[in-house]
Amino acid sequence: MVFTADDKHKVLKTVFGHSSFRSFQEDAVDAILAKKDLMVVLPTGGGKSLCYQLPTLLMDGITVVISPLLALMHDQITALRAFGIEADMVSSMQSAEEISSSMAKAKASKLKFLYAAPERFKSEAFVSFLQSLKINFFVIDEAHCVSEWGHEFREDYRKLYILKERFGATPIAAFTATATTAVQRDIGEQLRLKNGVSIRADIQRENLFIASAYRIGNGRGQLLEFVSKFKNESGIVYTFTRKEAESLAEFFSSKNIAAKAYHAGLDTEQKNETYRAFVNDEIQIVVATVAFGMGIDKSNIRFVAHSSLPKTIENYYQEIGRAGRDGLPSKTLLLFSSSDIVERRSMIESMPESPYKKHAVEKLEAMGRFAASEACRHAMVSEYFGDSGKNCIALCDNCLEPTKESIDITVESLKLLSAIHKSGQRFGLQYVVDILLGSKDQKIEQNGHQTLSVYGIGKEKSRKQWLSIADRLLELKAIRQGEYRVVSLDEYALQIIKEKQAVTIRKDRLTEAAKERTNRKKEIYKPIYDNDVFEALRVLRSKLAKEANVPPYVVFSDKTLKEMADRLPATKEEMLEVSGVGEVKFERYGLEFLELLYKSKL
Ligand SMILES: [Zn+2]
Repeated sequence: MVFTADDKHKVLKTVFGHSSFRSFQEDAVDAILAKKDLMVVLPTGGGKSLCYQLPTLLMDGITVVISPLLALMHDQITALRAFGIEADMVSSMQSAEEISSSMAKAKASKLKFLYAAPERFKSEAFVSFLQSLKINFFVIDEAHCVSEWGHEFREDYRKLYILKERFGATPIAAFTATATTAVQRDIGEQLRLKNGVSIRADIQRENLFIASAYRIGNGRGQLLEFVSKFKNESGIVYTFTRKEAESLAEFFSSKNIAAKAYHAGLDTEQKNETYRAFVNDEIQIVVATVAFGMGIDKSNIRFVAHSSLPKTIENYYQEIGRAGRDGLPSKTLLLFSSSDIVERRSMIESMPESPYKKHAVEKLEAMGRFAASEACRHAMVSEYFGDSGKNCIALCDNCLEPTKESIDITVESLKLLSAIHKSGQRFGLQYVVDILLGSKDQKIEQNGHQTLSVYGIGKEKSRKQWLSIADRLLELKAIRQGEYRVVSLDEYALQIIKEKQAVTIRKDRLTEAAKERTNRKKEIYKPIYDNDVFEALRVLRSKLAKEANVPPYVVFSDKTLKEMADRLPATKEEMLEVSGVGEVKFERYGLEFLELLYKSKL
């Protein structure tokens, strides 16, 4: 069949089986047909592929799709072939024969779509080959990878500016599910898009209920309660580590809930089998690390839970966005604790220096604030992505239950604001809290801040409680965090200081922060640890003991190693809380043990 540009509705019906376009799809199709550059930010499940597949069928050349993941390319090609559309790829997974066969088909105009990874564009031979084709337009999928401020920056993506250099007249259509307005602008600049059409769908999803709660213990009780509400309905539970994915899947199975783990450590066959069983409703839950879900088009996922804090709001929103693609009401639950933030931060800090690293910390902090917030969660997500957020009324826990018990923290807020003001609005939060706690830190003495009237006036609260209070003030825009995480006073501070505006915080935010502190001190400690981790620690201990020519127990006792294997400290402070680890031993051996523990969590 040969179609012309006027046939878009006909193609929509005959090829894709839809009688009308979804919002924004038609604008995108029209922009492509008018040969304009295009940038589309469309939440997962918005019907993105159709935006570039349909116009391609109305054009007589080939469309080149740049995609970061082989699995995604593979799924797309399979889907296109199912529509009777010729598509193929050029990828590192193919043999030389397969690659030349794909290229020959493209050359002979037998393909409508050619998929390639961004790395391919480093090859001059490939670029020249493409120049010999009649290309309709380029599609850049997962375009947020182009931007350093995006959440998954990839070097090869940044180099895609060569498309405009080498294929000047050929339009580009860039797609992403999640980009803040700043990232969206950056993508446009990096790709040198000109006079393009920009389409941004409303980020708010009206069929998703969003909730977030402090994790109690390991969170299993809360997850079980949540999951039990969905008898025989599909859902995904995201965990941060492979090990947690495995053990949580086992836990659900032990409660007669059909669940399987899915993570990058499994072999392809196992992964495919789990994926297949899930898509076919043979298992109810997949307990997965982030490796699962990219490109999944199962529409009847009714719930998504997170057992700990995701790295960024982008990741989080993409993951919960996998629920309710069919438009039916679906629920999400995020469990977190303040220690998640500490752990993620130390992982980021172990990364090599890069601009990405700095953004990663900021994104993590935004994620932490979102989790603990008392504001409408839909509105917060919208605002994060640069849209104007409206409160949802009954689609998030905070709007549904605004009456959770609150306590007055006006006095504490005044202390914190005053400490920020009196130290000159030049320091980070930790430092300001140090002043309130009357810390003996050298830096405070060097700055002469032990003489400030606010020094030591906050001893009745713990550091974590002060950080919760600061989070609340950030939410209220009474303080803001700037470059180098320096905190300063923001608009609302004046209302608190001058107009005596009262500040309240949900009670559980402060009591949870207090609990974490007392638990550690009171409980009689019985380590529950993984034997493999303990063994690995022992091996390291023997090696260090041999090097120092001392018996192993001089390095650390078994009791200390067991406690380490249980607590899995991720930072120096956490390590120092393990009994038997003091400053001196930390100096000598701490880093090597931290490194080992860090690796054992992957
Ligand atoms: Zn709300």
